[in-house]
Amino acid sequence: MSFADKTLTCRDCGTEFTFTAGEQEFYAQKGFDNEPTRCSSCRQARKQSRSSGGYGSDRGYSSGGYGSDRGQREMHTITCSSCGKPAEVPFVPRGNKPVYCSDCFKSQRSNNVRSNSRW
Ligand SMILES: [Zn+2]
Ligand SMILES: [Zn+2]
Repeated sequence: MSFADKTLTCRDCGTEFTFTAGEQEFYAQKGFDNEPTRCSSCRQARKQSRSSGGYGSDRGYSSGGYGSDRGQREMHTITCSSCGKPAEVPFVPRGNKPVYCSDCFKSQRSNNVRSNSRW
């Protein structure tokens, strides 16, 4: 079986490229029926974009979305209305409402729920 160079047109960039006899032989040995549809540079570009771009963007999307959700939680420094200590809260404090540090917030809640409970 003999092979002759063939000129094919890349379906991606439209450039004519040579499907050489050697390549045809290689394809035949591998049992590939179909001819290459892309020039070698487009094939390389696809390979690279699939291995690095696909993988990277997949991870970037999932981890980035997750991370930015949590990262956008801005902390605001407040002064606790109960003990006067500075504290950070994940919401914007409103001037007309008392804000508590996490410790006082907990005890305020437990006091409200069970007024007779003591530590
Ligand atoms: Zn091409
Ligand atoms: Zn406090």
